Amino acid sequence: MKVLVLNCGSSSLKYQLIDMDNENVMAKGLCERIGIDGSKLTHKANDKELVIEQPMPKHTEAISLVMKALVDPEYGVITDTKEIAAVGHRVLHAGTVYSESIVVNEDVKRVIRECFDLGPLHNPANLMGIEACEEAMPGTPNVAVWDTAFGMAMPEKAYLYAIPHEYYEKYSIRRYGFHGTSHMFVSGEALKFAGLDPEKGKVIVCHLGNGASISASIGGKCVDTSMGLTPLEGLIMGTRSGDLDPAVVQTICNKEGKDVNEVLNILNKKSGVLGMSGGVSSDFRDIEKARSEGNHLAEVALDAFIYRVAKYIGAYTAAMNGVDAIAFTAGVGENDIKSRKAICSYLGYLGVEIDDEANNCRGKNQMISTADSKVKVMVLPTNEELAIARETLRLVK
Ligand code: ADP
Repeated sequence: MKVLVLNCGSSSLKYQLIDMDNENVMAKGLCERIGIDGSKLTHKANDKELVIEQPMPKHTEAISLVMKALVDPEYGVITDTKEIAAVGHRVLHAGTVYSESIVVNEDVKRVIRECFDLGPLHNPANLMGIEACEEAMPGTPNVAVWDTAFGMAMPEKAYLYAIPHEYYEKYSIRRYGFHGTSHMFVSGEALKFAGLDPEKGKVIVCHLGNGASISASIGGKCVDTSMGLTPLEGLIMGTRSGDLDPAVVQTICNKEGKDVNEVLNILNKKSGVLGMSGGVSSDFRDIEKARSEGNHLAEVALDAFIYRVAKYIGAYTAAMNGVDAIAFTAGVGENDIKSRKAICSYLGYLGVEIDDEANNCRGKNQMISTADSKVKVMVLPTNEELAIARETLRLVK
């Protein structure tokens, strides 16, 4: 059975066609600049690359081109789009309505629409992707896999903000958590990889990329996760500040004569290690390079990033009354040997011991703790596309 996985942004569309009989990626690609000049599709399959540059005014045209590429006699991997059994869509926000993936129907589309306010950049694009597929492949089921679903298992004490309750009732203001598909996938893999009880294993997943978040889960069910109403809360990220006293917003507004929206834009796009380092970069490799060249602010930014992750691991260990496994994933988590080591150096009190030789790895499943370590620590590459494809298959089978 073949499943197409789609991740639609406002002007982009990423896809993978996965053969679920063996979970192999048959083809993958990207449509860029949808709705703007210079639209381009890059399609990769069988070690060959096809680039098509032609106008894609909407996602509908982008999907048509993807279909064309998939059945292309030279670059394609299927002979008929009817071979696609279902399409799995990454959808950002389901508000408080759905805590599980679901086959798309009119109600689901209404919920996606009602959540435009909560996910203004993503939900409209996600809906366009679904509607484009309905048009291009009538009768083929579409499945919505929500980024917020994993966090819906959090208990009230974890998801409610300490603000007047009426705001939750009126506007659904609560903590949702994001990167949910990644946390679901990696926490599940961690239970297996560490040989833990699938119902009781206590796992902390550190999804450290440009966007970064951390989750605590027991038996794969989320207990707490660091992102909140929006992805701004929690860890220090490439450009996002993470946790902060809201009075900082008021102070910057007053001192700089800016409004709240402008300051929120600064907290989302110009803060994090980019802001802390005095503008060096949002990319952790650049920050590390600057630190190695003696840039003090780059060093502080990196130290602060690591310190915040370590503090969250402590908090989440308390939340679960223990931890069996800690998994590192995403760009920094999978590749940054020094940062993993630095984070774990805070965790001696938990009996964490890292094997330096094992930790000297990138982008593969690997146990990096010693045999004596009280907590199993590992690197587990995330694979959101595969997680979405598995969810899709589960629902349409
Ligand atoms: P996102 O999906 O949120 O855009 P990724 O998970 O792709 O982010 O992670 C991107 C980050 O990973 C970048 O900041 C990049 O510098 C970092 N990264 C990738 N490889 C390395 C490495 N070898 N050492 C340190 N950081 C790395």
